[in-house]
Amino acid sequence: MTCRAYIGLGANLGADLGATLTQAALQLAALPGTQVVALSSLWRSAPVEATGPDFVNAVVALDTGLAPLDLLDALQAIEQAHGRERPYRNAPRTLDLDLLLYGDVVLDTPRLTLPHPRLGERAFVLRPLLEIEPALIGLATGQGWQAQRIERLGPLSL
Ligand code: ATP
Ligand code: CA
Ligand code: CA
Repeated sequence: MTCRAYIGLGANLGADLGATLTQAALQLAALPGTQVVALSSLWRSAPVEATGPDFVNAVVALDTGLAPLDLLDALQAIEQAHGRERPYRNAPRTLDLDLLLYGDVVLDTPRLTLPHPRLGERAFVLRPLLEIEPALIGLATGQGWQAQRIERLGPLSL
């Protein structure tokens, strides 16, 4: 049994943010029992509720046999391999991998909340997510996200 999961990728620290996201997508594709089924474009976005350099963002759709917490463990291991540090909330980061959706699983635990609780208010999640799956528009909360600065950079190719 596999499940469709959507991963939000973001980075705003490092020399080549597009290369970081490409490498992270390749690492997702290499996870056990996992296939990449869709890639959004690369997008550049202004920090939301944070300061620092602009982000590069993307969303990757996976079919995976990994259970939700095993997938979260794998995402955090990939972040660590990219030198992720968490000095304070919303700090600039070399790589952030959020588990946006895991099938239609709804979960609220200390380690994992599904769907990702803030996905519906963030243009840097919604724009790439809707690019791959327009039918998910119902996840958007209100209109505020439409005013957030974001631009398409080009394709994410593996
Ligand atoms: P935000 O969650 O607002 O995007 P962030 O990505 O900067 O903020 P992190 O420091 O990367 O936050 O993660 C904090 C904790 O969030 C992680 O340790 C993880 O256990 C928890 N978490 C809960 N739900 C999720 C989820 N759906 N995807 C990723 N992490 C999650
Ligand atoms: Ca995040
Ligand atoms: Ca995160």
